[in-house]
Amino acid sequence: RTTAPLGPAEIVVDLDAIRANAEVLREISGVPLIAVVKADGYGHGMVESARAARAGGAQWLATATVEEALVLREAGLDGPLLCWISSPEVTPGATYAAAVAAGIDLSAYSVAELDAIAAAADRAGRPARVQLKVDTGLTRGGIPRAAWPDVFARARAGEEAGQWQVTGIWSHLACADEPEHPANAEQEAVFDEAVALAEAHGLTSLMRHLANSAAAILRPSARYDAVRCGIALYGLDPAPGHTPDIGLVPAMTVRAPLMMVKDAHEGDAVSYGQHWVAERPTTLGLVPVGYGEGIPRSASRPGEPEAAARVGIGGRLRPIRGTVCMDQVVVDLDGDRPEIGTEVVVFGPRSAGGPTAQDWAQACGTINYEIVTRIGGRMSRTHV
Ligand code: PLP
Repeated sequence: RTTAPLGPAEIVVDLDAIRANAEVLREISGVPLIAVVKADGYGHGMVESARAARAGGAQWLATATVEEALVLREAGLDGPLLCWISSPEVTPGATYAAAVAAGIDLSAYSVAELDAIAAAADRAGRPARVQLKVDTGLTRGGIPRAAWPDVFARARAGEEAGQWQVTGIWSHLACADEPEHPANAEQEAVFDEAVALAEAHGLTSLMRHLANSAAAILRPSARYDAVRCGIALYGLDPAPGHTPDIGLVPAMTVRAPLMMVKDAHEGDAVSYGQHWVAERPTTLGLVPVGYGEGIPRSASRPGEPEAAARVGIGGRLRPIRGTVCMDQVVVDLDGDRPEIGTEVVVFGPRSAGGPTAQDWAQACGTINYEIVTRIGGRMSRTHV
């Protein structure tokens, strides 16, 4: 995607915040940090975020796809690197082979995938690195319990044959953002069973990891040998309403210049669908961000203007009025007339004088992950 600014709005990513957040997560968890930088670093820039996380002491990096992991290697990010989305039916053999050659840990979920990794190791002329991805209750990727014995036996046989080194075993929690949810303890117990069975198959030097950001912060029992943190690395709250203030700093700020100020008269209806009607004379501001920049249209909250998302102008929060358009939103300036060009903070850390990505998530009925990961479009993105 282009990084050239195709409009006046911009994303600014504070890499020092990512570095500092990595330090906080290492300290609070007390175990090695696997920094999750998939999906373009949750919208923050994958390579830049990975470097910042490493500077903050992250021992491992992780991506979803093999292709993402290869991009990190091409950018010169050496050291432990794990990925978890691949499939022998879909991922080309050459991609597996490139990953083996690059020393990337591949997560395997089936005997067929281990066979594909064996072929890749042959092709690459060196043993692969494999981590066993077990399903403990998320029912997504991961080796289903019924297949554990076969997959573990194949994993051990391949290790003995020099096809790979099995470096880890891991799983993913379904309800980590609800710390009291019984599924957390249940998944830990199932994970312990998987580890015990793997050990019984002779797989004994495994790094065990289960926790995402929420569990890394909130569930000491889920920390095992490492924690895989994404959202908290970017300074966002993984479990709103549960997470104590541990000093995480949101790394992303989205801002734009105020484009226009106009007067609406009583009865004037604003934007598509005319869902918001001025009840009295009102000053409105035009901000050049819309769903073309990844701003969710659901931020408008038709019929519930008090719940609409807001932006920060001059240190005050100004609600969106009417429907979010492709290129712009209209905000209520509450009688003020800021100068054209005044900075509008769409979201960022509180210190930026506007709402947070979490505030936007709440207004849009989604999670902060989605807000930052989808943001982009025409905006330039600068790392500071
Ligand atoms: N581990 C896996 C397998 C994931 O898919 C993700 C992200 O969704 C993470 C860890 C990181 O989760 P979080 O961003 O909640 O820390």
